[in-house]
Amino acid sequence: MTTNLLDLDLAGLTAFCERLGEKRFRATQLFRWIHQRGASDFDQMSDLAKSLREKLKHDCHVTALPVVSEHVSSDGTVKWLFDVGDGNAVETVFIPESDRGTLCVSSQAGCAVGCRFCSTGHQGFSRNLSTGEIIAQLWYAEHALRKRLGTDQRVITNVVMMGMGEPLQNYSALVPALRTMLDDHGYGLSRRRLTVSTSGVVPMMDRLSQDSPVALAVSLHAPNDALRDGLVPLNKKYPLDELMQACKRYLEFAPRDFITFEYCMLDGVNDQPAHAQELIALVRAHAGRDGAWCKFNLIPFNPFPASGLLRSPAARVTEFARILSDAGIVTTVRKTRGDDIDAACGQLAGDVKDRTRVAERMARARVIPLAQLP
Ligand code: SAH
Ligand code: SF4
Repeated sequence: MTTNLLDLDLAGLTAFCERLGEKRFRATQLFRWIHQRGASDFDQMSDLAKSLREKLKHDCHVTALPVVSEHVSSDGTVKWLFDVGDGNAVETVFIPESDRGTLCVSSQAGCAVGCRFCSTGHQGFSRNLSTGEIIAQLWYAEHALRKRLGTDQRVITNVVMMGMGEPLQNYSALVPALRTMLDDHGYGLSRRRLTVSTSGVVPMMDRLSQDSPVALAVSLHAPNDALRDGLVPLNKKYPLDELMQACKRYLEFAPRDFITFEYCMLDGVNDQPAHAQELIALVRAHAGRDGAWCKFNLIPFNPFPASGLLRSPAARVTEFARILSDAGIVTTVRKTRGDDIDAACGQLAGDVKDRTRVAERMARARVIPLAQLP
């Protein structure tokens, strides 16, 4: 097996080129061809000497993931299902907005954390994605979108690691992928426009603050340990007090001066005014001298039958948001996007073995050509 260059960040590619007896700057040229121009065929790389191209063809390749399906929602959201082998698939979602284009990227096939309200969690854990499989999602999406939109400008301006999987439980593959996303010769994202979302893997939050301090979102979902233990099983290992302290430590290195807390609104479970009050107390207890140090993003729960849970009524979500806002905590309610193609948070299940489900979803989706993206 030769090396897939999507697995390498620029430092890795430089070392690779040096092993081939090539100068360092060749690695930069190659990296730009791959990530900025979407090239996978070495013969396209016209400013590389023919002899080098031949050597590369022999020693390495640029291979993305096979696409199982591609759906475009009526609101312009695009969802791809990528085959990662052995009957597993991962999903990637592009969310266009007027001022940005956000790609939601998966880090694992399945997830071992097993949150009660998450369809990926219910599916169990299959395996970690490699760096190349994480980057392939961005590589494919960026260049497919550019081609179909007829532009050579950057389409994806923000990346959120909020697809399937717990990114901080796949740390060694995650960090080189983040580096490629941040690299000026790669995707050139700023650290503020790259967000890692975690259910709270405390030791890895500390490592991330040193290795690649990007924006951090923490999936909170409950204001006390008793409730959180039942929703996010990882809480038993890293309870709220430890998690809050880790968030505060992260802030010393973060590109933004706040942590985003995600909070999935579950009918009758965590959505009462008393829960909002408890959250305010929790945030204040850890504020220290910082004052406002976090924001809340309330996510309307996307139900799926096996969860046995329901979405909070809209009025309750608004009331919950108002209580937090009145206490001086910046709170937003997330819009659900791509509902008609099951692209919303927590609906990413990606089991290609389940042909009926995929077929069912395809029938429900309004599939329109990418060229007609709003
Ligand atoms: N494992 C990471 C990142 C992937 S999940 C994490 O948990 O943060 C991304 C977000 O989607 C998390 O905030 C998660 O809590 C939320 N989510 C999961 N299932 C959901 C569902 N059914 N409805 C709404 N949000 C959900
Ligand atoms: Fe895993 Fe995140 Fe889903 Fe929890 S919410 S099961 S951590 S993907």
